[in-house]
Amino acid sequence: MEGTLKELGGGLYTYTRPLTGYGGSVNGSLLVLPGEALVVDTLCSPKDMDEFAALIGSRATTVVYTHADWDHCLGTGGLKPERVIAHELTAQRLTEEGQSTLDDLTLKNPELVSGASVVLPDTTFRDTFTIPLSGCLDGEPGEDGSLTAELIHMPGHTGDSCVCWIPKLGVLIAGDAVEDPFPSVTLATNIGLWADKLEELGKTVSLVIPGHGNVSGPQLIAENVRYLRGLMGAARRNTPHPWLTPDVSLETLDPGAAKRISRMSRSDQAFYKDVHEENVRRVLSVL
Ligand SMILES: [Zn+2]
Repeated sequence: MEGTLKELGGGLYTYTRPLTGYGGSVNGSLLVLPGEALVVDTLCSPKDMDEFAALIGSRATTVVYTHADWDHCLGTGGLKPERVIAHELTAQRLTEEGQSTLDDLTLKNPELVSGASVVLPDTTFRDTFTIPLSGCLDGEPGEDGSLTAELIHMPGHTGDSCVCWIPKLGVLIAGDAVEDPFPSVTLATNIGLWADKLEELGKTVSLVIPGHGNVSGPQLIAENVRYLRGLMGAARRNTPHPWLTPDVSLETLDPGAAKRISRMSRSDQAFYKDVHEENVRRVLSVL
């Protein structure tokens, strides 16, 4: 199914494609500058990058992966990037599991990953990485070196997750460290630090592009932080089989998030209810 290109202004775009059969949709981001382009997450197949490629033209392109999950990095073949940057654990995951995951997806859902290939990063980082950028389309001067994209390791959704923060624009391209309505937790040991880092960034963010869900203002960060801290609180009130008790239901733990998912399609509601239940189990098993 076709995706949707959205122009956010200042040379910034998102492309959103449905993840039919898996729940919701996924966002890729593009920043087009006079002499270069930055793409954050290449989604599921080269076709997902067609709209971005047309906007990029012959500009030198940097690709960033926010993490190694398949819905974020299989479309790189649709671009001709000068470099591909990711966390060192993303490189490791893609090296170890990338091809077998793609083979599996090709069997189950060939159309979704049609023409996809695993393109490994050529540049990796551990904690943070600064990408200098050359300027802004809307006339904002960037030549003083102040326009940069900062990659910040933020484990929690997965161990390799990072966010791409563009301070001069106030834009956070969050990968799955921020999701609308709430993130999926696979590395629960990091949940406290994850919430703290997000809260700190949230003080200066004006626009957040989550890996899944609508482009939002900083309130989405606040909502995600509240949800993560709600999970931590539930874990501390440890009772036997606590995931079976009503106090960890989404309605009790985070009524705002429960209300937001009640407005989603029936299949997305079911998807996020499962994500919440799994989050509760994972957080309770480690805290
Ligand atoms: Zn994802």
